[in-house]
Amino acid sequence: MKFGIDMGHNAPPDTGAVGWAKEDDLTKAVGNQVIDKLEALGHEVVNCTPRRASSVVDSLRRRVSTANARNVDLYVSIHFNAFNGRANGTEVFAASSAGRRYAQPVLNQIINLGFYNRGVKNGSHFFVLKNTNMPAILIECCFIDSWRDRNLYGTDAMVNAIVKGLTGQEPPQAQGGGSEAGGSGEVTRDEQVLKLQQQLNRLRVRDRNGKVLVEDGLWGSNTASAVARFNDLMAIRSDDSASAATWKALEDIFEKPILRQSHATGKAVRYVQFRIGTAIDGIFGPNTARSVRRWQASVHITADGVVGPQTWSKLLG
Ligand SMILES: [Zn+2]
Repeated sequence: MKFGIDMGHNAPPDTGAVGWAKEDDLTKAVGNQVIDKLEALGHEVVNCTPRRASSVVDSLRRRVSTANARNVDLYVSIHFNAFNGRANGTEVFAASSAGRRYAQPVLNQIINLGFYNRGVKNGSHFFVLKNTNMPAILIECCFIDSWRDRNLYGTDAMVNAIVKGLTGQEPPQAQGGGSEAGGSGEVTRDEQVLKLQQQLNRLRVRDRNGKVLVEDGLWGSNTASAVARFNDLMAIRSDDSASAATWKALEDIFEKPILRQSHATGKAVRYVQFRIGTAIDGIFGPNTARSVRRWQASVHITADGVVGPQTWSKLLG
């Protein structure tokens, strides 16, 4: 089979989105490895990415004309998505029923990596899908402004999923041992997840089963459920992902501010209210002060109703 591979953008002024990585870097990294692996499996591949372009429209025209001139059997355009920091997952576009037959297995393989399934979608508005003469698909691998997707993403795994979806064949190992490290578009996957797990455990925010999180740096449904619980306690609308607001709230709490009646509001107050078992409204009023005193007495520290160093060390110790 003869594939036409289009690494999205990479032809200024046709440049892509920017988030935790640059779309251009990722489409290039994924595209080059997809080409290598398809060739290793015995397929013919035409790289349809232009080196330069005079405009975005020119960039798109060049891709299409290469594919049409070389008469590829399937045109595959590789992109990464960006929206509002909360949207996440994978979608694959096609503009014909023939295209859809290729789109579905590629989507299925990528979803197997844990990305949210946004479905196969009608892509007849995409220039490259509309103007190529053969079946064509456009893969939005995942969102480069989604923290959740960042933690799921690895170039090798994405490449293998695409190659497997396109061919039904098992992709060969990458040369050099298939390391995830290196390359300009790579991300450090685990440190932020690990930090999140450690902090949530320290805050005693449990997962959906009431369990302590495993501190393995891997994003999974248990960690997601604890993040969702924390966001809920903090009145942050981020579903089950850790947004900037989530990190800010964690920071506010770990600053251990001194909290006293009528002089404190905000995330740290919400957290204290959660721990001492009183109504969570983020306002340190007389009811909260009374509950703090009761809680302080129960853990045998001075019952002064002020959340200071001693109380914080009991809360977070
Ligand atoms: Zn793009």
